[in-house]
Amino acid sequence: MPERTLSQRSPYWVLLAFGFLTLLGCGRAPTELVVYSSRNEQLIKPMFDRYTEETGQAIRFVTDDAGPLIERLAAEGQNSPADILLTVDAGQLWQAAERGLLQPVDSETIRTNIPEHLRDPGSRWIGLSVRARTIVYSTERVQPDELSSYEDLADERWRGRLCLRTSKSVYNQSLVAMMIEAHGEEKTEDIVRGWVANLATEPFANDTRLMEAIIAGQCDVGIVNSYYFGRLTRDKPDQPIRLFWAELAGDGVHVNVSGAGIAAAAPRREEAQKFLEWLTQPEAQSMFADANLEYPANPNVAPDPLVASWGTFRASSLNVAKAGELQPLAVRLMDRAGFR
Ligand code: FE
Repeated sequence: MPERTLSQRSPYWVLLAFGFLTLLGCGRAPTELVVYSSRNEQLIKPMFDRYTEETGQAIRFVTDDAGPLIERLAAEGQNSPADILLTVDAGQLWQAAERGLLQPVDSETIRTNIPEHLRDPGSRWIGLSVRARTIVYSTERVQPDELSSYEDLADERWRGRLCLRTSKSVYNQSLVAMMIEAHGEEKTEDIVRGWVANLATEPFANDTRLMEAIIAGQCDVGIVNSYYFGRLTRDKPDQPIRLFWAELAGDGVHVNVSGAGIAAAAPRREEAQKFLEWLTQPEAQSMFADANLEYPANPNVAPDPLVASWGTFRASSLNVAKAGELQPLAVRLMDRAGFR
């Protein structure tokens, strides 16, 4: 049999090479789920590993701040490799959805496991864990019966005693957005002006610094996310600070979510939905919430014992989606009120 020459074989080589380069061009194996996440690697990786162990589904993730991730999704458009966007603020998910970067998911599992006020009314994203943004106080200089609401921290008896995180924090932007929803702009601006007048010192870059200032005696009260209080007191349980469940417009504690949605151009839509549904189930909910001392979004799953030890609270019933809608107003309002 005559040996075939290279030129006779070449069409096959070209096809093979083309196929291989196409795979390389996609930057991933076709079976991998791709998650863009603004939640830290150490908080998501163990959960992703568990899912891969259970289902064989490989997951690749990219972590960055939500802003750049959302811009990246938008710039990549239909060619984006991303299947899921995961963020740590409902407002950011709202923005991604508004820009058409997320797609609706019709899932009975999700509707059953996640309460309505923690889901996008348009079904484009869901909360996976809940964080309360509430009052923290010095047990040495404040009695809990002196405390009531976020609004009350504007009262002049707190003059020179309040510490806040900077208004650049998306967490404060969402809190003020929800205050606008509850009170309207005018009253909210009065409250924020009152806060600024009561500040003991310049706003802090993060919640942990704020709590350290209370411990050090620089101020007496502040507003923080519950899990930062958890991190600080897990290592040093005898700190003279405690959480107080604040009321927002008499409707309970302001909560926000870390949550996720499926990218509009997700190459693996079905697999992404399966993964999202898995994340709402008890085992994953415990892992997701406990890793960061948060509350599971699924109300049938108990929080970590340390988190449970802070007592129960009534969460505001306002839909967290409002935070996104009103964040731009909140940013301008805080600027007008001199909250830096
Ligand atoms: Fe945080």
